[in-house]
Amino acid sequence: MEIKPKKRIFIGLLVFTCLILFFLIFLLWYVPIVGLKNIHPSLPLFFTIVLAVLVFLMFSGGLLLVFTIFIGKDIFLSHKLRGIVAKVLFPFMILMGRLVGVSKEKVRQSFIELNNHLVRSNHHRTRPNKLLILLPHCIQDFDCEIKITGNVKNCKGCGKCEIKDLNELSDQYQVKIAVATGGTLARRIIVDNRPEAIVAVACELDLTSGIQDSYPIPVIGILNERPNGPCINTKVDIQKVRDAILDFLGNDP
Ligand code: SF4
Repeated sequence: MEIKPKKRIFIGLLVFTCLILFFLIFLLWYVPIVGLKNIHPSLPLFFTIVLAVLVFLMFSGGLLLVFTIFIGKDIFLSHKLRGIVAKVLFPFMILMGRLVGVSKEKVRQSFIELNNHLVRSNHHRTRPNKLLILLPHCIQDFDCEIKITGNVKNCKGCGKCEIKDLNELSDQYQVKIAVATGGTLARRIIVDNRPEAIVAVACELDLTSGIQDSYPIPVIGILNERPNGPCINTKVDIQKVRDAILDFLGNDP
């Protein structure tokens, strides 16, 4: 299977990080080994075994991640891998990206792609009433005076923004839909609705923090389009939202 360029950024940074870590572990092993011998003769062996286990776990984890991405199926523990990628690797990748001149935005896009791939590989299935479509407020037409935070169904369906189409999707598949004005409200919506899976639409920053905060709930993240600049009259590809819903419901279109 072809790896899309965005995912390649994350994998490239991961390989780079692994090489640096292997080198640091070698130094960590080599430098104190002489001193340890003076404390106790078996300490160097114990220390070597601990570091060897660490290297083995890192190496096999990295390989598992790359194989899961290539094959596109859950080989082994892909839900755990998703957690490790979100909670541990991602902050490292931002740091590494800075070192080698890859922008935060690109690393975030890459992380979102990779997360979506791992969620899809795991074939999470859920019932419609346990699936939540979570949208950013900026997708509503800026001049629309109807209050849709709290209840998206207040929308009158005039068609000036994509809230109309997204509401129709929610009706068609009987899935929940909500609009959040920020991270705090998004977290509250998740606590109140207790979804088993989420299709989230947002910008790079909100999606990455949302995916991290929601773990272990599987989230498929869809980047919004910003033809008018950030945070105003944003758009989303409705087909991508539909595909993500169907990935979770396991239905044919
Ligand atoms: S589609 Fe709904 S939310 Fe969008 S402008 Fe029309 S009434 Fe307002």
